[in-house]
Amino acid sequence: MTTASVRVVVFQHGLGALDYAVPPGLDLGPGDAVTVPLGPRTITGVVWDAGRLHGRDVEPKRLRPVAARLDLPPIAEPLRRLCEWVADYYVAPLAGVIRMVWPSVAFLGDRETTEYRAGGDAPTRLTPERARALEKLADRQGSVRDLTRIAGVSDAVIRGLVKAGTLLPVVVGADRPIAVPDPGFAPPLLEAAQAAAAGSIADAVTAGGFAPFLLEGVTGSGKTEVYFEAVAAALRSGGQALVLVPEIALTAPWLARFAARFGCAPVSWHSDLKASERRAAWSAIADGRARVVVGARSALFLPFKDLRVTIVDEAHETSFKQEEGVHYHARDVAVMRAREEAATVVLATATPAIETQVQAARGTYRHLLLPARFGGARMPDIAAVDLRRFPPARGHWLSPPLVAAVTATLEKGEQALLFLNRRGYAPLTLCRTCGERIQCPNCTAWMVEHRLSRRLACHHCGHVTPVPPACPACGDADSLVACGPGVERIAEEVGRLWPAAHVALVTSDTINSPARAAALVAAVEAREIDVLIGTQMVTKGYHFPELTLVGVVDADLGLSGGDLRAGERTFQQVAQVAGRAGRGAKPGRVLIQTHQPQARVMQALVAGDPRAFYAAETETRRDLGLPPFGRLAAIIVSSEDAGAALAAARAIGAAAPAAEGLSVLGPAAAPLAMLRGRHRQRLLVQATRTLALQRILRDWLGSVPVPGNVRVVVDVDPYSF
Ligand code: ADP
Ligand code: ZN
Repeated sequence: MTTASVRVVVFQHGLGALDYAVPPGLDLGPGDAVTVPLGPRTITGVVWDAGRLHGRDVEPKRLRPVAARLDLPPIAEPLRRLCEWVADYYVAPLAGVIRMVWPSVAFLGDRETTEYRAGGDAPTRLTPERARALEKLADRQGSVRDLTRIAGVSDAVIRGLVKAGTLLPVVVGADRPIAVPDPGFAPPLLEAAQAAAAGSIADAVTAGGFAPFLLEGVTGSGKTEVYFEAVAAALRSGGQALVLVPEIALTAPWLARFAARFGCAPVSWHSDLKASERRAAWSAIADGRARVVVGARSALFLPFKDLRVTIVDEAHETSFKQEEGVHYHARDVAVMRAREEAATVVLATATPAIETQVQAARGTYRHLLLPARFGGARMPDIAAVDLRRFPPARGHWLSPPLVAAVTATLEKGEQALLFLNRRGYAPLTLCRTCGERIQCPNCTAWMVEHRLSRRLACHHCGHVTPVPPACPACGDADSLVACGPGVERIAEEVGRLWPAAHVALVTSDTINSPARAAALVAAVEAREIDVLIGTQMVTKGYHFPELTLVGVVDADLGLSGGDLRAGERTFQQVAQVAGRAGRGAKPGRVLIQTHQPQARVMQALVAGDPRAFYAAETETRRDLGLPPFGRLAAIIVSSEDAGAALAAARAIGAAAPAAEGLSVLGPAAAPLAMLRGRHRQRLLVQATRTLALQRILRDWLGSVPVPGNVRVVVDVDPYSF
């Protein structure tokens, strides 16, 4: 008799896939969550399609049996294929990718709120206490704390039974009612260009099959109304829709629009959900009751039952790039998920990334254009202010032309927005006596002064300290000076210039919850705010009809540094914030403060014509063989021990394979040479498109052993290089 066996991807670093015997009576298929024995412990894992993974061939008779099947919906085939693609393309462990499908839902962490019930195997060691507990717990369900109380034992006993696989996690909330958005609730009257675009996408959704679109429309052109029709088509055909947004805190106005169109709210998915909400949403998505989901990038790994369309709203946004754990780009994963689900995907943006434009030009994505603003609103008038000719007064940051423009706007009773992509008061605190610059102890970064909260903060690791009364290096009192502006400092200047104006600061420090975002929108709409001052947070999605002036305080900010995407990103950011101006009946005006008005990106912004700029940027990428024309990956080698990081990075560099079309740069100190207390070395790998870069990386990195205190992470298509 042959014993049936399964291959299980275990959530245990470095172990990959292991084979287990299937105990009689247990029905297991690919995608099932299981607990399995490993040494003396029980760990969790997921049954995978055996033919698709390497395992160690062990004689079936010698295999240990699977401990239990967990009460979770299995990962469906398209999502399994997506996990494989992500692991493969981003050179990440498959288990790490699968973890994103089952995030603390039922059994990964989250012990305090996870509910358990008896139903697993009897424990191998049945102590009297355990026996007593199990007797009391028959048919009962609850958190560890609940069960401890019910059973009248210590919580160590309950935790022991969880560990032994006797008490199993339960997905709760599976029966909570979820409102179903109604596609016929309040359909809009679309303009011709909108109707054409909406028709193409809706037809693709209805027809089914993989259909990627780039929906490119200038700011205020009504892209949201267009992609709502794709959502409506998914609803009408009985399926589900996913809308990915860059920043979930900013969705309040979006949610209001959604409810106005569909009669109820969609399901929100983000990291701030309470554990119970998270489980309820997750199971409703898995069984198809949740029809429309709006979420941040992690929503891409939700177990949709029947996903018909995915929208990536503001698809150019950098926040879609995940730079922790598995490094992936949600925009690209969204397209791959649509491919696996045989579904439609829409990248909606006013300023597509060059990668996206090239795909559209190649015909890989269907390109839909909304060339004008909705309702006849005009595009804003954009001008550059040459800071060399019109310098701000000493210790000030707003130039005379911008000051005059704000004054004129306020006199007309209209609203102005000042944009500076820097949180806090000042990016650097310097000692006038000894020259000390206050640095983060964990990162290669300056501490940023936040005057409102009277603290210095590191924007990379979150380290905070009170503002010191004296220089920490020389001890001189009153010698510390704030250098450079952040938004808080601009607010101070605005307060001095226009003392009667009502000012709102819009940064992640002040608008840190959906409720605050909603309050801000209400205040601006009620005209209780005269001047908005914000970081990139204000560039996103807001629609304020009375806002007629936008001032970009420092358009050069993103251009320094060696980032190849600097120009593109500056264009996107400034075009987006400029797009907040004049969205209603009154025309908008934008002033861009810059030291380099002759730069190509500034010229493109002023002319309102990005074509020449994008063409030139695209040519540069092509000439340099950079994505999307070539392949690029970064290998980040980090350790708390600087010497260990360097030695490992050198060993990896020395083992670099020689291949035609492959070049390796480094190791060199990474752009953030220290981050969260870890020293970071980096190698950059560039390859032609004909080379299988991922396979090369896997083989290469697999051949170099690194010590346990060193971490090696691959960043494919890295953002900063
Ligand atoms: P975008 O996302 O392209 O910047 P929006 O979708 O926010 O533009 O649309 C801009 C404004 O125009 C919004 O206030 C929106 O409600 C309105 N709008 C767009 N299309 C329509 C339509 N067909 N009917 C009514 N209002 C519309
Ligand atoms: Zn830090």
